[in-house]
Amino acid sequence: MGDDGGGSMAGRMVSVVVPLYDEEAVVGSLLDRLAAVADESPDPYEFVFVDDGSQDGTFAALSAGVRRFRRWQLLRLSRNFGQQGAFVAGMSVAAGDAIICMDGDLQDPPEVIPRLVEAWRGGARVVIAQRRHRAERGWRRLAFAAFHRLFHRLSGGLMPMDSGTFGLVDREVAAHLLRLSERAYFFPGLRCWVGFPQAVVGYERAARAGGRPKQGFGRLMNYAWDALTSFSDAPLRLITGAGFALSALGCLYALGLVAIRVCQFFGGFKSVEVLGFTTVAVAVFTLAGVQLFCLGVVGQYLAKVYVEVKRRPLYIVESAQASEARGTQGT
Ligand code: UDP
Ligand code: MG
Repeated sequence: MGDDGGGSMAGRMVSVVVPLYDEEAVVGSLLDRLAAVADESPDPYEFVFVDDGSQDGTFAALSAGVRRFRRWQLLRLSRNFGQQGAFVAGMSVAAGDAIICMDGDLQDPPEVIPRLVEAWRGGARVVIAQRRHRAERGWRRLAFAAFHRLFHRLSGGLMPMDSGTFGLVDREVAAHLLRLSERAYFFPGLRCWVGFPQAVVGYERAARAGGRPKQGFGRLMNYAWDALTSFSDAPLRLITGAGFALSALGCLYALGLVAIRVCQFFGGFKSVEVLGFTTVAVAVFTLAGVQLFCLGVVGQYLAKVYVEVKRRPLYIVESAQASEARGTQGT
């Protein structure tokens, strides 16, 4: 908790954690807009930038630009670990009483930050930014909408729909989040899972300010699958149900055949049509496919267990720099 013993909220520091991966096209305007927010606010701000193994000029642009802030930290990860790992890296060094996580491509507008802080001052320990509108088009828009509806259903309404990583957690909630040791780290879901008083703030999600999305189709699908399987065993229950239904069908079919034989025995039927090769072949292939699919789903859960037991870190820091000013003294 903050060092003022939970008294007045004035003057308590807010850390803003931003992961960046090959975002040199955006760094300039990102720093400008963050600086404008910090200048207009009476609260002390700390900015934590995490370079997630960028190959372009992102790190150089950050190193040159961060000095304009009074309090900053700049982490460089040893390679690209993915957005979630980068967030956790930033959160683990952030010194603020509240920690805000936001994307670096300006899809999460920095101007929304004061509204998140206001909700925190109003008593919320977790503030979730919820998109009222999405700038994405085409398959990305459809995929995001489908994922949020499915996740909402499977996780029992755990997370407000259309929310992502953008949001605020207070220091104590962040400590709980950092204690979670899972490798399949789905930050937006875990942030809701930890509990505490939560608030939702609506915002308009902008288009990318420049560059290309770093998470392509395959990566987003992996992320979605990781999120769903981390919070739900519904796929396993679904295949159990499918197995049960198929067995029931098989039993009904067997009973039908027995009935036909009995009728035949008592002279009800003269002849019984023998099932052809095609029917048997289709049944064998379909059932083998269903079985392999189910085995695959079980295997996916097993693979997740394997990843978790190895307990490899979510990220490795190659270098860390920070401003002279730390904490809230000397504002
Ligand atoms: N990002 C990252 N590491 C990655 C991929 C993305 O740090 O491996 C950062 C990226 O630079 C951006 C944020 O995470 O600041 C969101 O990425 P992106 O815009 O690609 O995701 P989307 O908006 O599609 O969710
Ligand atoms: Mg983006």
